[in-house]
Amino acid sequence: MAWPPQRSNPLPASGSAWNRLRAQLKAQWQREGRACALCHQPIDYNAPAGKPRAFTLDHILATSHGGEPLRISNLRAVCASCNSARGNGEGRRSRFDYPTSRTW
Ligand SMILES: [Zn+2]
Repeated sequence: MAWPPQRSNPLPASGSAWNRLRAQLKAQWQREGRACALCHQPIDYNAPAGKPRAFTLDHILATSHGGEPLRISNLRAVCASCNSARGNGEGRRSRFDYPTSRTW
């Protein structure tokens, strides 16, 4: 019946709703010429994914921390380079964050 979004089980940032929202926001922000929310450098909205200046959609509050994946106010434009610098994952840390050895 009802589908209360469960905080303990956040929706994954995928699926057609996500793709639609992403395309909508990308088109809107491209018109506005919105820059990266983190480094404030211009975003190349036409760059293919994987390019450092390519557009990525970032959750301000990660869904793993209760952020709503499809809420526009929880989303911002971030360049690919900043996004990957943040770890490009929710609650997942880059392997570089884990020291492999420790000198005591
Ligand atoms: Zn950036």
